[in-house]
Amino acid sequence: MHMQGIDALLLSVGPDLPWLTGFAAMAMERLSMLVLPVEGRPVLILPAFEADLVHDREDLMDLVPWLETDDPIALVARSLGAHHTGNLAIGDHTWSRFLVALQAEMPEARWQQASKVVSSLRAQKDPAEIDALARAGAGVDQIAAQLQAGEIPLIGRSEVAIAADIEARILANGHKKVNFCIVGSGPNSSSPHHHTGDRVVQAGEPILFDFGGTTAEADGTPGYCSDTTRMIFTGEPPMEYAEAYAALKAAQEAGVQAAVVGTAAELVDRAARDVLTEAGLGQYFTHRLGHGIGVEAHEDPYLVGGNDRPLAAGNAFSVEPGFYIDGKWGARIEDIVVATNNGPRRLNNSSRELAIVEA
Ligand code: ZN
Ligand code: ZN
Ligand code: ZN
Repeated sequence: MHMQGIDALLLSVGPDLPWLTGFAAMAMERLSMLVLPVEGRPVLILPAFEADLVHDREDLMDLVPWLETDDPIALVARSLGAHHTGNLAIGDHTWSRFLVALQAEMPEARWQQASKVVSSLRAQKDPAEIDALARAGAGVDQIAAQLQAGEIPLIGRSEVAIAADIEARILANGHKKVNFCIVGSGPNSSSPHHHTGDRVVQAGEPILFDFGGTTAEADGTPGYCSDTTRMIFTGEPPMEYAEAYAALKAAQEAGVQAAVVGTAAELVDRAARDVLTEAGLGQYFTHRLGHGIGVEAHEDPYLVGGNDRPLAAGNAFSVEPGFYIDGKWGARIEDIVVATNNGPRRLNNSSRELAIVEA
């Protein structure tokens, strides 16, 4: 905050507040907001009847409980003292109703996104965070292995029915919630973010599985996210598909091996993209290579053309190249990878072969 000339951080709904304090603001119209000045004690303004949820964090911050008849926006301005005319960084997920009211209350303040301060801190995971991400990864790897072993019936069932099975297993596997579960069968595998639907899986087609959740951690610490993609073919794949898949697997491996501390994020994207381009599939790889992951499923750093920031030790991100041939078929392989001083470390370790399942 000193380096960026920011006088105070204002954090409410969203992942930054629980990441810093263990306390999550309830997503509702009653304002909970941490006012964290560049110097001095932070203050947590919150509905009085929720104060008991944080009484044990008084070592970290002063509590300012407000009654139903109080004006919490005025309390935020008052807590800022002289900083109410300063440079304020507000959480990216804070509802506009609060920001608009705060701007009206403090017309001289200058506003920017809290991510300018917080995201580079969040992007560098400490060992405990990497452990949590690894546990999350192992949980979804187990489900991927079950799918590959044919333990979850596929042919003749709808995408939503299969997704319901996967979601139940995510919750049984150390996660407190499911963030997404894409089951894209046949031509639906050509839509990178296919909305899992009623289509019934047939024999002789690819299925794209992309799923993840947020881990259940002990009280007071936020959960960490999992995210993996694996492909299954219901029967023997045609040569054309098998060859494209082999190129994809090589591209994913090249991306992982390029994810070395100090390498610009965009060069990791390029390393994978070059392999697909050489195989004549470059035009079908229509999205960035990957996204950071932590308490949010998508966060900094992004592996995308134009991002020349070098990877730092502790950065965790997906490496997920794909090809999508509109209306025909597609494929993606996705692992979470951590850049370490000993090289890239995969946090997903289920088989990356194209699994053939005949049931
Ligand atoms: Zn995605
Ligand atoms: Zn994914
Ligand atoms: Zn992803």
